[in-house]
Amino acid sequence: MVKTREWVSTLEVWNPHELSVEDRALLAEAHVAASKAYAPYSEFYVGGAVRLADGNIVRGSNQENMAYPSGMCGERVAVFAAGAQHPGVTMMAVAIVSPSEKAISEAFMPCGGCRQVLVEAERRQGSPIRVLLQVRDEEVAISSSAVNLVPFAFEAFGLGGTGTNGREG
Ligand SMILES: [Zn+2]
Repeated sequence: MVKTREWVSTLEVWNPHELSVEDRALLAEAHVAASKAYAPYSEFYVGGAVRLADGNIVRGSNQENMAYPSGMCGERVAVFAAGAQHPGVTMMAVAIVSPSEKAISEAFMPCGGCRQVLVEAERRQGSPIRVLLQVRDEEVAISSSAVNLVPFAFEAFGLGGTGTNGREG
């Protein structure tokens, strides 16, 4: 008898005009960040903005490099900058946006590496990070926790977890 494991993940899709002032402000910060991206190779401009529990906002944008693997995604730059500049301060939410013409997919999502970084940030701080994703002006996809974006996330170092969603059946 083969056992199966199931992962259930839900995203809310919002009209940005119906979001809270706080969420709209965070998205605006991410758009500012995207405008400062260095992406001459991909021309895929991504901005991230992290809202911290103390009210600070930390921006990041993708930073590419001629030696391709040396570049870094915008949301990861933001999360790492928040961790470096405000160590120990809880990350409440991260907005990730791309205004690029290339970002035409309705399913604009962080790459696997960035999702794993967000999950580990959640596990370190012991509370979820809301993730707001905007690629088209008329829609914002929101996840209540980064763990919803990473089925069966890499588990190491006994960090435990907020929200283990995997179920055996
Ligand atoms: Zn990434």
